[in-house]
Amino acid sequence: AKPLLAINDMSIVFTSPDEPDVKAVRQVDLTLTPGKTLALVGESGCGKSVTARAVLRLLDSNAEIRTGEIHFEADSGPVDIARLKPDSLALRSIRGAQISMIFQEPMSSLSPVHTIGDQIDEIILLHERVSPKQARERTVSLLDQVGIPGARDRANAYPFELSGGLRQRAMIAMALACTPKLLIADEPTTALDVTTQAQILDLLRQLQADFGMAMLFITHDLGVVAEIADEVAVMYLGDVVEQGDVYEVFRAPKHPYTQALMNSVPRLQRKSERQRLSPIKGTVPSPKDRPEGCAFTSRCPYAFAPCPTIRPEPTVVGDGHVARCHLLTHAREEAVA
Ligand code: SF4
Ligand code: MG
Repeated sequence: AKPLLAINDMSIVFTSPDEPDVKAVRQVDLTLTPGKTLALVGESGCGKSVTARAVLRLLDSNAEIRTGEIHFEADSGPVDIARLKPDSLALRSIRGAQISMIFQEPMSSLSPVHTIGDQIDEIILLHERVSPKQARERTVSLLDQVGIPGARDRANAYPFELSGGLRQRAMIAMALACTPKLLIADEPTTALDVTTQAQILDLLRQLQADFGMAMLFITHDLGVVAEIADEVAVMYLGDVVEQGDVYEVFRAPKHPYTQALMNSVPRLQRKSERQRLSPIKGTVPSPKDRPEGCAFTSRCPYAFAPCPTIRPEPTVVGDGHVARCHLLTHAREEAVA
């Protein structure tokens, strides 16, 4: 299928008046198929949230898309979101209606001073020609679909009157109000307890089946990736170092960073025999100290001559499975020779 979203060669820099630009995201390529879920995974500060926010042009004022394209199959035809003016009609018709976003903290998208019903009605009325009464009917059915009991009455509740889990559900209902083609979810379950987290993931899977939207799911949790995603892109210090089918990447990770991440996950099933975490040695350097070559150089046990200075090219290591590491090209060259 034609990609719904194709990010090509996107670089994002943080600018500051008295310091050199800092590369937050470096030449990222990502594609998302309609109806599928792509997880962006990595440690905090790896650029995954910045990448996701760029898709909706919700970057902070000191962040700038320096190169690249963000192709989106909009209702009106293909569009390069990177070229749209932040306040343009085209962008406003996409944001919240064709692409919407949910966050870790529901209060960042819900207003505390309006009822959840009024807020969802408003989104529907903003983007569609329906009567207030029709909007409210849709709102009630959305609240019902996201599992809020007594939806018609609860529509009149203010966010603070709901539990954390119900607030999260209300935010999801609001994000889906205009049946977006793409839902961007930035760590939506991170702040929740384990049980509620599992319920919200189930809900998102169910809603995806019902609504058919694609998801770009940001998380630092590989367990969540395994639960929710079809494809995964692993980010490190602004680079996508590996991407591919989830099953394939989990089964045979090819980049040393992905391998280290996998090894750091405690085996999920065996509670009796808890395996020790094997954390990755060292800490993520500041993006200011990123080497020109492979971003993982300072922590990689296999780093060798070309790593600090030459950036590894993406190498196809399987069907739709790509990784950036000099070991892969060297191995291939040796095999060819
Ligand atoms: Fe390690 Fe070099 Fe591969 Fe980077 S390119 S992951 S430093 S071996
Ligand atoms: Mg983040």
